[in-house]
Amino acid sequence: MQPLDYFDPATADVASAVSLQPQPEMHDAKQKREFNKLQKRLRREVGNAIIDYQMIDEGDRVMVCLSGGKDSYTMLEILRSLQRNAPVNFSLVAVNMDQKQPGFPEHVLPQYLDRLGVEYHILERDTYSVVKEKTPEGKTTCALCSRLRRGSLYGFAEEIGATKIALGHHREDILETLFLNMFFGGTLKAMPPKLLSDDGKNIVIRPLAYCKEADIAEFSRLMEFPIIPCNLCGSQPNLQRQVVKDMLAEWDKKHPGRLESMFKAVTNVAPSQLADRTLFDFAGLEAKQAALMAGRIQALNVR
Ligand code: SF4
Repeated sequence: MQPLDYFDPATADVASAVSLQPQPEMHDAKQKREFNKLQKRLRREVGNAIIDYQMIDEGDRVMVCLSGGKDSYTMLEILRSLQRNAPVNFSLVAVNMDQKQPGFPEHVLPQYLDRLGVEYHILERDTYSVVKEKTPEGKTTCALCSRLRRGSLYGFAEEIGATKIALGHHREDILETLFLNMFFGGTLKAMPPKLLSDDGKNIVIRPLAYCKEADIAEFSRLMEFPIIPCNLCGSQPNLQRQVVKDMLAEWDKKHPGRLESMFKAVTNVAPSQLADRTLFDFAGLEAKQAALMAGRIQALNVR
């Protein structure tokens, strides 16, 4: 497969991309300008993430996981708009999982996707009952729910011949996970923009990895996406994640640029300045030193 070498989000035809999705009425010229700027920024960030991690190749069939939340709607919309100007051909198929939560509005996503003319599937799996049965009273259900959802979606991707699975996690999701893993998992890991599933069968991509949550929220508001809330199950939000989320939001307010810097740090790791013996050969430093010294002596002798 030919690798993706450019994805020109800067020069892409934003006007034609906008017309892909019925736009909310914007009579105010200033609001229109702001919207175009925001859309351009999201397109640029998604395009850059795709290039940097070589997320999409020629001929890929990308399964876009659509929950009905702001992030996945935005991801689908931006991928559709980039698709028109991409230097490689790839197709998109949206997949929503109906987890049989009480009150889930089954008609919303099919209506929306029919209107866009996007290929889609609704995967029906009653994970709601499983989660309710297996999770002790008062405990948060999201971890098991997500695991079950992920398992079903990964399996379904194979069934429909998807070569990539796109998830709508953004910059803040990645940073929150980094801190949660440090605080509670004793490990320095976040959420990678691209990964191979544990069984080696699926490649997962996160095209929104460079996008700010606030931009996505604003874009979603202006696009008037028909949002389906993720709390129909009645679950309590993950309290620890919320604490970390608030902490990051507070830092962002008090110290503008801090989140950018932290995200950059995730992409710029120096194993020799950490303490993981599996990533850096600390025991071999003496041998390295001896080799360097020998090299210097030899250089002096040659002169
Ligand atoms: S809020 Fe409910 S549906 Fe959403 S991930 Fe948690 S348990 Fe699952």
